[in-house]
Amino acid sequence: AEVLLEELDHVGPATAQKLMDAGFTTVEAIAVSSPAELATAADIGESTAAKIILAARQSADIGGFETGDVVMERRKLVGKLSTGCVEFNEMMGGGIDTQAITEMYGEFGSGKTQVAHQLAVNVQLPKEQGGLDGSVIIIDTENTFRPERIKQMVEGLSEKYGQEYDYEEFLKHIHVARAFNSNHQILLVDSAMELANELKNSDKPVRLIIVDSLTAHFRAEYIGRGTLADRQQKLNKHLHGLQRFGDLFNACVVVTNQVMAKPDAFFGDPTKPIGGHIVGHTATFRLYLRKSKGDKRIVRLVDSPNLPDAEAIISVTTAGLRD
Ligand code: ADP
Ligand code: MG
Repeated sequence: AEVLLEELDHVGPATAQKLMDAGFTTVEAIAVSSPAELATAADIGESTAAKIILAARQSADIGGFETGDVVMERRKLVGKLSTGCVEFNEMMGGGIDTQAITEMYGEFGSGKTQVAHQLAVNVQLPKEQGGLDGSVIIIDTENTFRPERIKQMVEGLSEKYGQEYDYEEFLKHIHVARAFNSNHQILLVDSAMELANELKNSDKPVRLIIVDSLTAHFRAEYIGRGTLADRQQKLNKHLHGLQRFGDLFNACVVVTNQVMAKPDAFFGDPTKPIGGHIVGHTATFRLYLRKSKGDKRIVRLVDSPNLPDAEAIISVTTAGLRD
């Protein structure tokens, strides 16, 4: 069961409330904070803050070392989720990895949400069909989740595999929550952990979490240079929470990021991802999506730790993603 802040040594009800108000809603968040940061947030002395952090670290059991064989065991479990597109899968070394964050960035309309919907369908398929036999959690920040689209894609699968699929069954394994602001969005990762825990031993454990969009609320709420550091710090914590989710549940973590036009760029691509290098350094795989002719989209793999930079062409059709 989750440890409540008040159960930590040196944290009374008032301090717990102040910590929560400042966004330190979990023991993990406290465990990775600095004494100065926590002292300011909860209006306490730095030495008390240091003691609280120590208590949180012991309670959360983080910062511990793992031996290589344990890491190896976990890595053996890494699953591959099919995108439904041959080139795209090949570029990703077979599919989207579990235990990793995959970021899709691109302009409005480049297909990020479409790919997310397709993955939410595919993850439910059996392994022979490129799925992970799992359910999916979607944190929807832009209100773009469409069950009708899932229905079309499931019908597309029936066509593709010449087998009947029931779209209502697929919808039952998609858990969607709207996030109303960035704080709510971060809190929803904790709720997602609870839900994933509940489903852990079911026939459809959570194997995919999608945050669409990762950055929209952050961009809207943190405007101006002065608040940028604050934004990056929060985004960083959020991403680490998501990475932890991926590791704990052997799930794919897929986040989207809309790029803004950068009209002063004369060379290269006139766009750059929101969240800049914070997202860049935390995401394991970065995919840059752009529009091409008709329903074609170009997906470019950028900066992967173990795969060459490459491009794949996909089509976004009514029946779903196709080659
Ligand atoms: P974003 O990158 O902003 O999330 P989307 O994933 O929402 O972009 O992509 C929107 C595009 O997806 C539309 O412009 C259209 O080309 C395509 N699309 C959306 N719905 C359908 C559909 N039912 N049938 C075919 N194409 C669709
Ligand atoms: Mg979208």
